Order: sequence, then C-alpha cells, then structure tokens
Amino acid sequence: MPDRRAFLRRALALAWAGFALPGCAPAITRPRFRSYPFTLGVASGSPTASGVVLWTRLAPEPLAGGGLDPGDIEVRWEVAEDERFSRIVRQGAAVASAARAHAVHVEAEGLAPARAYHFRFLAGGEASAVGRTRTAPAAGAPGGRLRLALASCQHWEHGYYAAHRHLAAEAPDLVAFVGDYIYEGNGKANRVRDHHIPEPRTLAAYRDRYAQYKSDPDLQAAHACAPWIATWDDHEVDNDYANDRSQDLDPAFLARRAAAYRAFLEHQPLRPGVQRPDGEFRLYGTHAWGGLASLHVLDDRQYRAWQACPPPGRGGSRTVGSECEERTRPGRTMLGEAQERWLDGALRSSRARWNLLVQQTLMANAGRPAAGGVQHWTDGWDGYPWARERLFGSLQESGAANPVVLGGDVHAHYAANLHAQPGDAGSPVIAAEFCGTSISSRGLGMKAVNAIREANPPIRFADSARRGYVLLDLGPDRLDAHLRVVDDARRRDAALSTAASFSVVAGTPGIA
Ligand code: FE
Ligand code: CA
Repeated sequence: MPDRRAFLRRALALAWAGFALPGCAPAITRPRFRSYPFTLGVASGSPTASGVVLWTRLAPEPLAGGGLDPGDIEVRWEVAEDERFSRIVRQGAAVASAARAHAVHVEAEGLAPARAYHFRFLAGGEASAVGRTRTAPAAGAPGGRLRLALASCQHWEHGYYAAHRHLAAEAPDLVAFVGDYIYEGNGKANRVRDHHIPEPRTLAAYRDRYAQYKSDPDLQAAHACAPWIATWDDHEVDNDYANDRSQDLDPAFLARRAAAYRAFLEHQPLRPGVQRPDGEFRLYGTHAWGGLASLHVLDDRQYRAWQACPPPGRGGSRTVGSECEERTRPGRTMLGEAQERWLDGALRSSRARWNLLVQQTLMANAGRPAAGGVQHWTDGWDGYPWARERLFGSLQESGAANPVVLGGDVHAHYAANLHAQPGDAGSPVIAAEFCGTSISSRGLGMKAVNAIREANPPIRFADSARRGYVLLDLGPDRLDAHLRVVDDARRRDAALSTAASFSVVAGTPGIA
C-alpha cells in the first residue's frame, strides 16, 4: 500500500509539472472580454512585513467553467497608498494562465511594514474591485495591536453570508479562515439557496464549486477588507476524509484529493510555493505579526491517522464509547510527524507575546454524556487523545508565551480553558481556546451542546444556535475575544450582535 501511494503521488506530481511548464505562446496583452471578467472579486493573503499575496481570477462566466478560451492572459496589478490610486507604490504584470483557471497570484514585495494599502487588477480595459490589504509590523517590533477575525464553515445551501458582511465592516487587520470554505455535497431540496452542480470529483467541477461560493458579494467584501491566512478542513475535498482515505473508501481518492487541493490553491490568496513538487500542499507555517503575535497555522487533515473505529466497511467518523480501544492507542497522529516536529520548533523559537494556534477544530475535551458512558466524536481532537497530549506537552515545554488556540469546524461558539491533562479539570490551565461558530453551516441542537458543556466544566460557553465569527482584539497586555452572531443566517440582511465576550490577560493562562 505505501508503494502504491508513493507511486500515485509521483504520478500526480508529474502530471502537475506538465501544467507548470512555461506556455509556448505569449500571453494575450489586450484581451477582449465578452463580459466583465472580475466577477469573483479580489483577495489578499499571507502578509509579511514587506509583502502580501494579491489574488484574482478572470471568469466572465463564473458558473460555466469561467467562460474564457484557452490561452494565457496578461493582467496588470497595482498597489497604492490611496483608494484612488494616485500614489501607486508597486505595479506589474502577471499571467493568468489557462492551466490555472486564469487565476492570478502576485507576490507583491517591497512594501513598508505595518501599513494599509489598496490594490486592484486591470485587463482588457476592465478594472477589478479595489481591495484593502495590510502588511505585518516589522519582525520583533514591540507593542502594537492586532484585530483578527476568525471564520469557518460557510455552507452555501444553509444560508447567506451576512456574517461576512459584518466581519468586513469591523475592518480587521487580518482574517483567519480555518476550514470548510466550500462544501462538496450535491444540491438538496428545500435549502436557502442551491448548489448549482452535483458533487465535484474533478478539477473542473471543484473550480465551478469555488466559483459559485466566490460569486457571493458578502464573501467578496470579507476578502477585499483585509489579508487572509487560511487552512482547510474536510469539505474542501470530501466529508470526513483523513489523509489518503475517503469516507466511501474510493480507490481513486488521491487523484480526487489532488484536484480538490489544486482548486483550493487556485482560489485562495496563498503563496504558490505551498504546492510542493511531491504533491504535498504545505499549508502549515508561522505568520508573524511583529513581536505581538505569532500565528501558527496547522493542517490536521492531510497527515492524520485514519479515524478510529469507523462504521463497518467505511471510513470517516462516529461517536464511540469505551468499546473503541483504537481511539486512545499511542501513535495515532493528528498532525503527522514532520508537522509535529516543525510546530515544536516554532513554539520553542517563538519570541512573540502571543502564540496563536490557528487550526481546524475544537481542542477541549468535549465528551458527550450518554446512557452507556461518555461518547467521543472520532473526527475531532477527542478522536486523537494521544496526539493532543503530545501537543499539550510541546506547548508547555516550549515555553512559548501566552498560547491561545483558535478553531472552527463544530458550527458552534465555544470558549474553554485547556488543561494540562485534558480529562482532568484539576490539572493546570495551559491555554485559552476560542472555537468560532460557522459563517452559515447549521450546527448541533442546543440540547446536545448544553449537555457537552455541563459535562465538561472547562468549557465556559457553548452556543450552536447561531452563525457568526469571532473578533479578537490583541494588545501587549490582554486579548479580548468577542463571539459575534447574526440573528438569522437565512437572510442576507441579518443583524449582528455579540453572544459573549471573554478576555485573556498576558501572563495568566486561560480565560480571565
Ligand atoms: Fe463545517
Ligand atoms: Ca469539518
């Protein structure tokens, strides 16, 4: 099996290398578009103190494969200090290649630290929307602030993206998106709005699914308001997949995963270098915000051990009791060996005031009381207790200052304290956790979530009833987390309120 996997990886890497060859024909510099090409908006991401990635994709017919003939197109880009582009500081030309769905990734460099900029793209006499972006403060710069928005899980069919509109209005410095950017399912009846194509399995179909999501004006506003950092969860590929195994044990799953990963990169403002020659997509890494914060972005999907005790004849998750011995078996990894080693090193070498773990899912113990004893969901950290203990050990031994865990995935706001021994609320608190509710995806019932909270005292707050995001305001001495909610995600004009706010004081682990 490992041989076969390695062979498939190599085969996929070679196929991709073919696409990456320089084009034979020069890019069309004066294209004529049948209709407006910048329908999917603009985005920026992965900011450093000197640069940022600028993104767009040309798609005059976004829901029908993009609507462009094969052939590469030249796109001009501009970064300016002002919204009217009278003070342009950087500009250039980039190629929107047909092999990459006419997506454009510009790694703009030579910018000043801790500065807001405006950017746009130009092609064929058309101009994109104007995006706002920002560079990080200079390495090690003391003090400063960070307004960070945390978002996840935006099921198209479950609702509108009013939460994104409100998020954009808060003018965050940075947005962290932690997974389920798209959902792969078929369209279902009686939803708020419909997936326009069946479940994607090919590159072309994943592109169409992204195009539908990215056509939403409120999501475009959230991308245009600030740079993003992003990781993925399962639905960018297939529900509950783990590493190379899909829920339905699809023998061609690695090819499907490669198509999905590639479409993800094509549609996110990520650095193209995240795609490695061997087919790996290296999303994990540290984003520094001066000396104030290090954001350690994790990927708990690509490298994990398969879920314990799957349903008979299938992959994927279940809720299990003590009969599932596999769950607690040593060696069952969530991050994989290489990422675990990298994270340990990143935490040990961090000099930042705050160390944020930006990852996919709830980390606090969330066992559900049931008739036959406590039940654990095998897809989350509760399904990988050995890996969680190792991570907690690394957090403590590294001496990294003020760790705070951020997550998503469970479609509920959770605020919790993480204890050195996750099952023992009497053991020392080592970090605070804020797990943000979904932008639009529906959650568990409040009865279930209340039962989880009551059975696990370190969980201070749980609300699965409402959709929204978390706004984190970090300064040198304290972090404030505001758990925002919209009143009804089935309406585009839903109103915003704050479900709860919590603080963490620097130097004292856990929620104040
Ligand atoms: Fe989700
Ligand atoms: Ca998920």
